[in-house]
Amino acid sequence: MSAPIIDRLALIGFGLIGGSIARAAREYGVVREIVTTARSEATRKRVMELGIVDRVVATNSEAAKDADLVIVCIPVGASGPVAQEIASSLKPGAIVSDVGSVKAQVLNDMAPHTPKGVHLIPAHPVAGTENSGPDSGFAELFVNRWCILTPPDGADKEAVAKLHAFWTALGANVEVMTAEHHDMVLAITSHLPHLIAYTIVGTAQEFSQVSQSEVLKFSAGGFRDFTRIAASDPTMWRDVFLHNKDAVLEMLAQFNEDLAKLTRAMRRGDGDVLFDHFTKTRAIRRGIVQIGQDSAAADFGRQHPPKDVAPIARPYSSDE
Ligand code: NAP
Repeated sequence: MSAPIIDRLALIGFGLIGGSIARAAREYGVVREIVTTARSEATRKRVMELGIVDRVVATNSEAAKDADLVIVCIPVGASGPVAQEIASSLKPGAIVSDVGSVKAQVLNDMAPHTPKGVHLIPAHPVAGTENSGPDSGFAELFVNRWCILTPPDGADKEAVAKLHAFWTALGANVEVMTAEHHDMVLAITSHLPHLIAYTIVGTAQEFSQVSQSEVLKFSAGGFRDFTRIAASDPTMWRDVFLHNKDAVLEMLAQFNEDLAKLTRAMRRGDGDVLFDHFTKTRAIRRGIVQIGQDSAAADFGRQHPPKDVAPIARPYSSDE
């Protein structure tokens, strides 16, 4: 185990992402001390029982006090108010980051409250499951997944390098891009697929000619994957669609046009159009497997050094 990259880490919010960061940072020796908080007394009590962090405190400001790295791990809609709340507790030179699935709006909401001399560097680990809460996290969540940093113009290079090193030590591959580009990329790769999953599961529920028990019984045929994605946290996803509205609406318009093309081909009995389309999409799937972002096997196991840790085999699930 190498020397810690961060002295004191503060995690504001301890759900799937905050809890996974804490577990990974502890397991891989990335930080010396972890201080955390959550909104409710119940979550804070549970975090204390879990015994993963050094201190659990009652307020966001208390958590941020004297921290070298503060990571805000809460629904994106709450980022602005929390940035305002912690501003006066931040020490000069501290790095403030987040894990939100939307970046431009978060940057806009947090930047005005970030004191001079504090480095705001938003981030998004593109890794997740449909579970939430303090018990849902696990140390290997970020292994071999991407973490995207979206530093604002003129961001301190050393601070960016430190956050880069932090995420690398948690097992992630790190990429840097603008917040606007991030939101466009994620709109098509994550946000639109979630919107489709939420829609299709709702449609199946309202479809009266097929009973609910039949939907559950025969769900192996593709529908099961949609139900898993559609089980993702409602608060988180409400905030994602409200905060990345423009990019998602643009992708949705393009999606509707493509859906209309396939609908027309079906109506006209044009098998060639359908076959060509499905052939192209199959190549995309094979490409994802080839670059190691998923496996052709049913279960996608991941492992992060130290290598003597037993290999895990977890079903890979949706991001956030
Ligand atoms: P989660 O499991 O629901 O946890 C959210 C945590 O935030 C809880 O501990 C909650 O406290 C706390 N919280 C909410 N509002 C707060 C506030 N105002 N002050 C302090 N704590 C507050 O959510 P998550 O899945 O970890 O998601 C957190 C963030 O990660 C979101 O922005 C999401 O976009 C991003 N993200 C999620 C995924 C994913 O797959 N889930 C993937 C990548 C990024 P209580 O428990 O007390 O309510």
